[in-house]
Amino acid sequence: MDLGISGKRALVCASSKGLGKGCAEALAAAGVDLVLNARGAEALEATAQDIRDRYQVSVTTVAADVTTDEGQAQVLEAADSPDILVNNAGGPPPGLWSDWDKDDFRAALESNMLTPITLMKSCLPAMIDRGWGRVVNITSQSVKAPIPQLGLSNAARTGLTGYVAGTARQVAQHGVTINNLLPGAHMTDRITSLEDSMMAAQDISREEARAQRFAGIPAGRYGTVEEFGATCAFLCSTHAGYIVAQNILLDGGGINATF
Ligand code: NAP
Repeated sequence: MDLGISGKRALVCASSKGLGKGCAEALAAAGVDLVLNARGAEALEATAQDIRDRYQVSVTTVAADVTTDEGQAQVLEAADSPDILVNNAGGPPPGLWSDWDKDDFRAALESNMLTPITLMKSCLPAMIDRGWGRVVNITSQSVKAPIPQLGLSNAARTGLTGYVAGTARQVAQHGVTINNLLPGAHMTDRITSLEDSMMAAQDISREEARAQRFAGIPAGRYGTVEEFGATCAFLCSTHAGYIVAQNILLDGGGINATF
């Protein structure tokens, strides 16, 4: 399918690895020029060069922490009013409800709510002026079904979801869509480190840890970053202009709910 976005320009935050990288690759395959971002310059440059070589699109890199004011200014300057914005950053640390104080919540809100809101507020006006734009926020299945040990993530991402629900409906009349993608368990470094914790806590092998995870996923496997990226690219395509303010769950059926 021709996604109809060849020649558009995208800012993909937190994209040297994992889900952000999957989104970047799928957009590049559709002919989109990219600004990629991550804190670590080495992996970021390696990903950028690989994408340039394989897809012949322009790729600019910004090595910065996107959750800081300086990092946001840097990515916005490099992207120069992008047509497409993919918001992403690392998730807050796990713990129990009794562990966190106000500063922990402030940090989580800064990373996973205020950073995407700041970038949307900066990028939406030019999208509105052009009469076309796409925003995809990478959030989490925890927005639909809270994960007990991820209370900081549950709180911050739900706040972002409420903001998107209202804002997306104000900008849709200008040809600009905002939607959220909710990963369940996708095969990235983050999943490997979660398996490491299970292996240490239960004294089990990686195969046993993985079997425990798969038992709770009707698809019987982790999702791939390619599947995730393809869904993101479709949401950014010309075909998705009537998909507004949706929360699209990619979890292999893991959340047992009718809707
Ligand atoms: P990942 O494999 O660990 O990749 C994270 C990427 O983001 C890396 O490129 C990392 O590079 C970059 N990054 C992290 N913090 C950043 C920051 N502050 N500024 C700029 N770049 C940053 O993680 P992932 O699995 O793709 O997860 C992406 C997001 O989805 C996270 O918020 C995660 O909590 C959420 N999520 C993932 C899953 C899943 O199944 N994988 C499920 C639910 C939710 P540097 O470290 O070099 O900065």
